Amino acid sequence: MDTLKKNWFTEVCEMWPGGTFSFEVKEVLHREKSKYQDILVLDTTSFGRVLVLDGIIQCTQKDEFSYQEMIAFLPLCCHKNPEKVLIVGGGDGGVAREVAKHPLVKEIVQVEIDDRVIEVSKKYLPFMAVGFESPKLKLHVGDGFEFMKNHSQEFDVIITDSSDPVGPAVSLFQENYFALMKSALKPNGIVCSQAGTFWYSMELVSNTLKICKNQFPKAAYATTSVPTYPSGQIGFVIGSLDSEVIFDNPTLSFSRQDELSMNLRYYSTDIHKAAFALPTFVKNELNL
Ligand code: SAM
Repeated sequence: MDTLKKNWFTEVCEMWPGGTFSFEVKEVLHREKSKYQDILVLDTTSFGRVLVLDGIIQCTQKDEFSYQEMIAFLPLCCHKNPEKVLIVGGGDGGVAREVAKHPLVKEIVQVEIDDRVIEVSKKYLPFMAVGFESPKLKLHVGDGFEFMKNHSQEFDVIITDSSDPVGPAVSLFQENYFALMKSALKPNGIVCSQAGTFWYSMELVSNTLKICKNQFPKAAYATTSVPTYPSGQIGFVIGSLDSEVIFDNPTLSFSRQDELSMNLRYYSTDIHKAAFALPTFVKNELNL
């Protein structure tokens, strides 16, 4: 199906059949086929600039912060001393931008498979790609799954900001990837992975949480609101090697002044606690 018609972009994907989301497009800023995926950058009338990979909306200027802040600060604030952080994926730079803000983070390593996403984001999405300018960051271009095989007991936190489980991202949702992440963590380390929405992808959420529970003594699922993702919501699976961790009781709390000075627009200590509260039908489905 042609997803760009008469100045409207429509996201159509078999992962959420029978429903769709559309943007009115002001301008197509960039289009290319990289070695891994179709890359499209749009300027839209209501959501600002939008990054689309293989026809799937990755982030929009209007609401990206709710995703980036939550996937970064939920695990960081569940760890007592998150000095060294690994980001897998995240080619737009938004997660690096957020991780770099955390006062205890000293070193960030990022592995993104597609250097063209990085370059296109630097040119058209500087509000996110600013994350690549952090002096704390070392950026590698490569496959996160392969990278993980060569690292042992090195990271306090691993954040997987991957695309949905299609193409090169499929491996990042599998049990052997969670086992590799576990080996790459220092004692008491934490992982946090994009894990879909329960409205459209209950099976994905359930499988990813099950895998995480198999590998980690503590695991949970948390959500955030992102109006331009299918159903307006997305979730994260979090696993910790620290069996004492209480996910909805952050180890580090920020004051209102801290939140303002760190330019946190979505994440707060109250939002952190609420993110782990799930509707009854979801708890039933996930056996929680
Ligand atoms: N926030 C977005 C979402 O949930 O839709 C994800 C954004 S980020 C652009 C996703 C990135 O993951 C893409 O740039 C893609 O190239 C990268 N990626 C996919 N598979 C990967 C892999 N195996 N190793 C490293 N990066 C990968």
